[in-house]
Amino acid sequence: MRRTLSAAAALLFVLIGIGVFIALRPSEPPRGSAEQKSFTAQRLEMVQTQIAARGVENAAVLAAMRTVLRHEFVPRDRIGSAYSDRPLPIGFGQTISQPFVVALMTELAQVRPGDKVLEIGTGSGYQAAVLAELTDQVYSVEIVPQLASSVTGRLSRLGYTSVRVRDADGYFGWKERAPFDAIVVTAAPDHVPPPLIGQLAEGGRMVIPVGPPGSYQTLWRIRKKGGKVVSENVTDVIFVPLVRRER
Ligand code: SAH
Repeated sequence: MRRTLSAAAALLFVLIGIGVFIALRPSEPPRGSAEQKSFTAQRLEMVQTQIAARGVENAAVLAAMRTVLRHEFVPRDRIGSAYSDRPLPIGFGQTISQPFVVALMTELAQVRPGDKVLEIGTGSGYQAAVLAELTDQVYSVEIVPQLASSVTGRLSRLGYTSVRVRDADGYFGWKERAPFDAIVVTAAPDHVPPPLIGQLAEGGRMVIPVGPPGSYQTLWRIRKKGGKVVSENVTDVIFVPLVRRER
């Protein structure tokens, strides 16, 4: 009997200990802690070694890439890889693009303060946040409703309150807000959606990967000049496909 009681007391002691440990454990690293500093160091290194070293030159784009907290846009279990040189899964079969690809597309879009920008494929919201560092008029369309709803909270928590997110099929753009000075498409269709060409302003730039799903696609920059559409083949990329919503 006494042995049972002391075993129970020992168990109680252990459980209280675990409870106290869980209660006192900090859930977030405090600002300015070693972990926060190391994210900053990782971000500066990412810009230097992955982005500037590969030829992205625009100072405002480099500054935006140094500013946006990429680790806030990846799932918690991927936080250790937030600044690595690759895309990462964000759930629903989707990915946050490789940092270099985000920087390259942003540079190609030539976003100036006050420009109205449309992104297709909000995903984690990371590309939208980078665009929001350059202009206060960012519109983004996401087809997965759960991603569209979680991203709005994340963007406003991080201070990107001007970004407007809509849950819709981005093939059709955002007609009510058109025309756009820049359109950045972060999922690959097999042809350039005509509604997006229609919503590009005179002098506007569209950056879009086009090609078959599951293989290399071509990244195009398309410009509207004097009513004409001029396309430039930039490089090969791999994006998730632009899917279509049944209508
Ligand atoms: N720009 C994102 C990454 C994009 S991944 C980021 O910075 O995290 C591609 C995204 O495009 C996915 O979230 C996918 O759901 C979305 N998508 C695919 N087809 C779409 C469509 N027709 N309209 C809008 N979004 C689409």
